[in-house]
Amino acid sequence: GLADRLQATMQKIRGKGKVSEADVKAMMREVRLALLEADVNFKVVKQFVNKVSERAVGQDVMKSLTPGQQVIKVVKEELTELMGGEQSQIATAKRPPTVIMMAGLQGAGKTTTTGKLANLLRKKYNKKPLLVAADIYRPAAIKQLETLGKQLDLPVFSMGDKVSPVEIARQAIDKAKEEHHDYVLIDTAGRLHIDNELMGELKEIKEIATPDEIFLVVDAMTGQDAVNVAQNFNDQLEISGVILTKLDGDTRGGAALSIRSVTEKPIKFVGMGEKMDALEAFHPERMASRILGMGDMLTLIEKAQTSVDEEKAKELEQKFRTASFTLDDFLDQLGQVKNMGPLDELLKMMPGANKIKGMDNLQVDEKQIGHVEAIIRSMTMKEKEQPEIINAGRRRRIAKGSGTSVQEVNRLLKQFEEMKKMMKQMTGMQQKGKKKGGFK
Ligand code: GDP
Ligand code: MG
Repeated sequence: GLADRLQATMQKIRGKGKVSEADVKAMMREVRLALLEADVNFKVVKQFVNKVSERAVGQDVMKSLTPGQQVIKVVKEELTELMGGEQSQIATAKRPPTVIMMAGLQGAGKTTTTGKLANLLRKKYNKKPLLVAADIYRPAAIKQLETLGKQLDLPVFSMGDKVSPVEIARQAIDKAKEEHHDYVLIDTAGRLHIDNELMGELKEIKEIATPDEIFLVVDAMTGQDAVNVAQNFNDQLEISGVILTKLDGDTRGGAALSIRSVTEKPIKFVGMGEKMDALEAFHPERMASRILGMGDMLTLIEKAQTSVDEEKAKELEQKFRTASFTLDDFLDQLGQVKNMGPLDELLKMMPGANKIKGMDNLQVDEKQIGHVEAIIRSMTMKEKEQPEIINAGRRRRIAKGSGTSVQEVNRLLKQFEEMKKMMKQMTGMQQKGKKKGGFK
């Protein structure tokens, strides 16, 4: 991710009191390269870098953040801004049915997304959608939608491939009115490339159906092309929003970054897989973190800042970073951490945490914190520093001394072990980054 690229530069400016212009310049070189590599529109990159530089230069460095982290914080905020606010609401017509038209190139994911959207409308909003098969050109396109309809137990309107898509749309809407469907989702045809015939047909459908939403479906994996496609469709059809599919396979995030600023139309949903429930609201902030490749480290730091005083936060962060965290520290921090929110949530925010096996099961029950404190207090100094010496006999003694059970002692030791492993892994990653000069 972008964060990796920034590591080396970050090392150099660690410990400075102010972020200097030269520091920012060096980091912005990395940002620019990384964004271009991620296939972000060059105009967008230029604007972005200028904006971040302006904001980052001369900032006082917050006590609990290193200058590098501070610049990353600005980068993240601006990335989020670039992608716009969260916009996952769907229009509702004053008089039902609400008509949604799906458009896009062939293979972008229109048919699949039509099914996903209908599924979401029913499940989340309790609506009664009608799916409309208006792609009469692609072989088996009608069948594909019918199969999805069957799978979802939702009705599909089709008239075969001998009736024009415009006529199909017209009759589908009539039927939806008769049968009191509140949503009509029209799955249209795509081509491999944009051409006049395709646009002509889509414009005709638009005229007849007067859709409340025109969602453009684009494939995230096509990067810069997706942005060009979006711009072209928007110029000709005036779309209302974009659905970015196959984000599960896109590691760079270039399309997500440029679409909004190029088309001025929001990304409303993202496709995260082939299954019918793999459609999610688009969260610009999460996407920014993902592009930065750093988990939600910043959120963690921010939480630390607001709940714990700055000195303590810095200490905690340092311990996380150096993995020199003992059971005694654990006990020390428990009180602090308690104010920050559920411990397992905090741990999940740490970079790399999602990759660690068993992290999902790593749960710290708030109610058990008292027990945890008692258990740690019942340990000897040596046990706290070297928990590996705590054998069965010692476990029994600790359980007895703390008024808990051996199982609880076991659980705590296991959780602590997991945490240590995770921290080791994090420091390991940083060390590796250092040796290679921080580039990946
Ligand atoms: P259409 O030609 O635009 O109607 O595209 P389809 O809906 O037929 O989808 C083309 C292919 O992309 C199919 O194999 C889908 O399963 C796949 N697909 C669609 N959306 C996603 C997604 O979000 N993630 C992944 N991994 N595959 C997707
Ligand atoms: Mg299709």
